[in-house]
Amino acid sequence: MKKKRILTGDRPTGRLHIGHYFGSLKKRVEMQESGEYDPYILIADVQALTDNFNHPEKVRNNVREVAMDYLSVGIDPKKTTIYIQSMIPEVAELTVFYSNLVTIARLQRNPTVKTEIEQKKDLFGESVTYGFLGYPVSQAADITAFEGELIPVGEDQLPLIEQCREIVRKFNRIYGEVLTEPEAVLSSGKRIKGLDGNEKMGKSLGNAIYLSDSEEEITKKVMSAVTDPNRIRKDDLGNPNICMVAYYHNLFSSKEEAKTVCEECKAGKRGCVPCKKQLAKNIVNELKPIREKRAYYELHPEEVDKILIEGTKKAQKVAQETIKKVKQAMKLDYFG
Ligand code: SF4
Repeated sequence: MKKKRILTGDRPTGRLHIGHYFGSLKKRVEMQESGEYDPYILIADVQALTDNFNHPEKVRNNVREVAMDYLSVGIDPKKTTIYIQSMIPEVAELTVFYSNLVTIARLQRNPTVKTEIEQKKDLFGESVTYGFLGYPVSQAADITAFEGELIPVGEDQLPLIEQCREIVRKFNRIYGEVLTEPEAVLSSGKRIKGLDGNEKMGKSLGNAIYLSDSEEEITKKVMSAVTDPNRIRKDDLGNPNICMVAYYHNLFSSKEEAKTVCEECKAGKRGCVPCKKQLAKNIVNELKPIREKRAYYELHPEEVDKILIEGTKKAQKVAQETIKKVKQAMKLDYFG
């Protein structure tokens, strides 16, 4: 039986952190290992430029970084196709064709785009670029070029998939049944708060632990995590519910350990410094195999490049088939 193609991806604007690990990477490895799917992972450099057009070096430098993060968490290039968006010009071609099938008003109403424009006021001011407003159209091209059937997303990304489905339906209605309509799958990954308690973890917020962080960096970051501010002395009764150290113990420590942290904190029997040190040790241990694998690829960048070149070649073959069918349907197949 043909395996369903599952499509995921990331914008290469920075190294990946534990938020990505719990939010999507673990799940991607699980799906890869289940053997039930044909997974494709897109490194979306063109999409990253929509809000980093003035920092091309940042996007370029992070393509390999993100690829190394994938490989170090267990994405296996023999089972998952990893490829670079800009190296597949068919995606850009499809984006142009699809731009006739969606109105500006519809893009402006897209809740995900609306929220993101609001968040990027510092970059765009009152006037958003054509490229950023239209990124759901290029995302529809990404999905359909590779015949993505299942798209794992968080709830906030659902409007983007709906936008893609609308484009597919309109295309198929006008030109004939050519494109595959994708299905969104709500990813059951966890959303991790930052070390400062912020709902989002990210580089700009300075509250993230990266998969590539060294032991020293992890320890330093954990030591600066936000704790119960009312706790001054060790015997003050604490509230672990408002402490990020307790929050991370629940993710990285054993169940019993996390339970003890909570009980001792509430009873004023635990100091914050040893509590943080214990957490740092657990995070370091959990990320150790990832860091070690990453260190190997850092020493062998040529292997990473080879994986990207081969994955991109394979993905491009699929995109070339799609564009051929699309052009035939649109009567653009001149001279055979
Ligand atoms: Fe947080 Fe641990 Fe301090 Fe309690 S003892 S406030 S859980 S760091």
